[in-house]
Amino acid sequence: MKKRQVMYWREPPEDELNTNFVKDLGITCKKVFRRIPSECAYCKESRIAGIEIYGAGSGVTLWICEDCEGLLLRYSTSTTEKRLLKASQVYTHPDHWNHTMEDDVDLN
Ligand SMILES: [Zn+2]
Repeated sequence: MKKRQVMYWREPPEDELNTNFVKDLGITCKKVFRRIPSECAYCKESRIAGIEIYGAGSGVTLWICEDCEGLLLRYSTSTTEKRLLKASQVYTHPDHWNHTMEDDVDLN
């Protein structure tokens, strides 16, 4: 499986109990793919990669289609929101932004 490691660049939300990360990322497919999807739910292509997000917990948090860049869930929406909340809180300070990236994907 191809993996991309990314940072989630955004300000932590003011209301931590009512986040909209999944919606903000344009994830309209609500299906949960615990294992790598065999095809993209949006464009039906099969080049899918895992996305590991710094600060969001270990392992793949989201899947990305390498053709249309559509994002797919690996966890339920509520779990995904929690993981992205953690990620947004880890990288609040510009001082912490000097990590080197293997592969840069802009999720914003
Ligand atoms: Zn696609």
